[in-house]
Amino acid sequence: MNRRNVNAGFGKGFSAEGIFDFLLTSIDQRTGNGKDTIPFHEWVKDITLDGKPFTYDRHEYLFEPYQDNHPHQVEMKATQMGLTSKAMLRVAYGARYGGYRGILYLFPSKSDVTDFSKGRIDPLIDENPDTIGKWLKDTDASNIKRIWNAFLYLRGMKSRVGLKSIPVDFIIMDELDEAPQNAVDMAVERMAHSEFKEILKLSNPTLPDYGIDAAFQETDQRYWLLKCEKCNEYTCLEDTFPDCLKIVNGQVIRACQKCHSELNPSIGQWVPRNHR
Ligand SMILES: [Zn+2]
Repeated sequence: MNRRNVNAGFGKGFSAEGIFDFLLTSIDQRTGNGKDTIPFHEWVKDITLDGKPFTYDRHEYLFEPYQDNHPHQVEMKATQMGLTSKAMLRVAYGARYGGYRGILYLFPSKSDVTDFSKGRIDPLIDENPDTIGKWLKDTDASNIKRIWNAFLYLRGMKSRVGLKSIPVDFIIMDELDEAPQNAVDMAVERMAHSEFKEILKLSNPTLPDYGIDAAFQETDQRYWLLKCEKCNEYTCLEDTFPDCLKIVNGQVIRACQKCHSELNPSIGQWVPRNHR
């Protein structure tokens, strides 16, 4: 498939008391890695994440996003979607197989960086000595790591520490809406000389037309629609919330918007809303 000149984005997800566990995305496939390299969506199957083997079970909606290697992605977070986990794994995989020299992982504040480094990155490395751990070299500070031949810089967007001289090929902006928005362009400037210029923005949405919501509007806006096994109709839970929820025998179910049958959250399809 040809690479389209649009951004790919993950869409809005809901999480209402754990009833929803889904997300929406935008996907743009592009030619992946070399033939000899295990693709990202396969590589993760050997990873231990949060003490458990990685799996797509019960997170079937993630299979397609894990195959998405569009250079510019926007993801709207919702609780339990696992998008920060995906970003973190993409960093580890990209450091080893992506050919990047520098990866810049940005959070709003320095304390966010510390929490992420100590709470997510370090356990990921510790839990995966044979896959990720063995790629780690010399540096092991909380805000800079060398994974294979790439440097991973973890920084807060509220501070302007001297990053001007470092080469960056891939930038992740996590919790974008909490960060000063003028720092976004400054961060992107770090990639001026990169042959990759890859960006992943993710955040819980806050205000309409701001931050992640504004960025998502620039994408092809993929949404995860559930397909009814009875009548084949597609239902967007977000659009039909809360009507998509029905109480049957004292249980809350996700219901088809046409025939009201119970929907299986693992059966669905990513559908772009923005055609341009
Ligand atoms: Zn139906």
